[in-house]
Amino acid sequence: MSAVVAFVGLGHMGGPMATNLVKAGHRVLGHDLVPDALAAAVTAGVEAAASATEAVADADVVVTMLPAGRHVLGLYDEILAAARPGTLFVDCSTIDVADARTAHKRAVTAGMRALDAPVSGGVVGAEAATLTFMAGGGEAEFAEARPLLEAMGRRVVHCGGPGAGQAAKICNNMILGVSMIAVSEAFVLGERLGLSHQALYDVASAASGQCWALTVNCPVPGPVPASPANRDYRPGFAAALMAKDLGLAADAARATGTDTELGRRAAELYAAYAEQVGAAEDFSGIVRTIRDRGEGSTA
Ligand code: NAD
Repeated sequence: MSAVVAFVGLGHMGGPMATNLVKAGHRVLGHDLVPDALAAAVTAGVEAAASATEAVADADVVVTMLPAGRHVLGLYDEILAAARPGTLFVDCSTIDVADARTAHKRAVTAGMRALDAPVSGGVVGAEAATLTFMAGGGEAEFAEARPLLEAMGRRVVHCGGPGAGQAAKICNNMILGVSMIAVSEAFVLGERLGLSHQALYDVASAASGQCWALTVNCPVPGPVPASPANRDYRPGFAAALMAKDLGLAADAARATGTDTELGRRAAELYAAYAEQVGAAEDFSGIVRTIRDRGEGSTA
């Protein structure tokens, strides 16, 4: 069934996601603070709203795709009173678990319904409608959002109650950040031991070292031709976004008294790396800083 969707945040991810909702036959009222982002979405069939408040007034569902928790909470404070009672608020941004739960509570207190539904799959997945959605909230809210999420993605997983989608997202990305560092350290150690990249790849990809960081996003050029290492580390998944997600995981670990020693160290390493390269490099480029840090002695 077609819905009226307010879509706020039409950046790298939100723009193509909103476009895919239009393609699926939904009426999408879009808003972004950046006029160029809004104009690009309008070209793709999104109807421009002069403000977020105007966008949500007639919406069945409000989708947000914003940089961080403070943006989501700030926007909710602005728009919750403008929506019709019972409107479903679906936040697809990657934000702190605690902020997601606060957003959920504020929405419910204002007479709305809410779901957190962060994504993985990057801009390529947003454009191709192949994202994975990790949802947190009630069964009924999930069931209602599901057709919309399926129009923007390939896999939709209900992870539990409010905040569970964000929890799944940061736990998964903590595995990814730590494993990318482990794979990179192994390649650099192998280099110093005279082992070719291909030889290590051929062994580890079919042995117990196998993981996505190795077999899909391989941090050295050669073994996996499509990995960002083969195009001078152009993203892919930007280092700055990995640093952000590991920071959220470290915050959640502190808040819950969890000793995620490797996750914490990965957050530090990615924060330092992202400070140098920002969004310009794929997160697998961290292999170069690992290589540069060592002395390279083969004695
Ligand atoms: P982006 O900066 O390209 O887009 C965010 C947009 O939100 C911007 O266009 C900005 O102008 C707009 N915005 C901010 N505050 C607003 C407000 N109050 N009202 C209206 N518009 C507002 O970021 P992105 O890459 O699209 O990422 C969005 C979210 O998705 C982030 O939380 C990010 O962590 C997450 N994410 C990104 C990727 C990726 O590969 N880019 C992958 C997975 C998850």
